[in-house]
Amino acid sequence: MKDKIKFLADHMLGRLAKWLRLIGYDTLYLPLPDTEILLLAQKENRLLLTRDKRITERRLVKKKIIKCLFIKSDFLEEQLQQIATELNLSLTLKQPLCTLCNKKILLIPKERVKGKVPPFVFMNHQEFGFCPTCKKYYWKGTHWVKINNTLTNLF
Ligand SMILES: [Zn+2]
Repeated sequence: MKDKIKFLADHMLGRLAKWLRLIGYDTLYLPLPDTEILLLAQKENRLLLTRDKRITERRLVKKKIIKCLFIKSDFLEEQLQQIATELNLSLTLKQPLCTLCNKKILLIPKERVKGKVPPFVFMNHQEFGFCPTCKKYYWKGTHWVKINNTLTNLF
């Protein structure tokens, strides 16, 4: 399943990693040395996203034992576009993952967030999510709208 692809983003791609999580792709983002990041990609069968040309020259990458995509641009929109095009992925908001820990955000009933989020947020939103690991609340606020617009404009 293409949509089940898992990513590993290198230290230069933190913002992209966050977006991939919000879109719903399992994405690890760890500041690790090259050798360790390559090992991790291999071990967990993740597609390594990198801005580092040297990594793409590694033997295991050249032999395609480790899957790796060299990200060409520094700009988030272009990075997303490249991933969508080259991997033939649909980048629309699905089941989002927590931007902090990469775990599933649970949908929770509105009454459970009362007092936990700012009052104007509580009043203006109907759908809420919660990450049990980070204890972080999510709602489809302006950030969400902005992401959705960006993705819609891209594709
Ligand atoms: Zn979390």
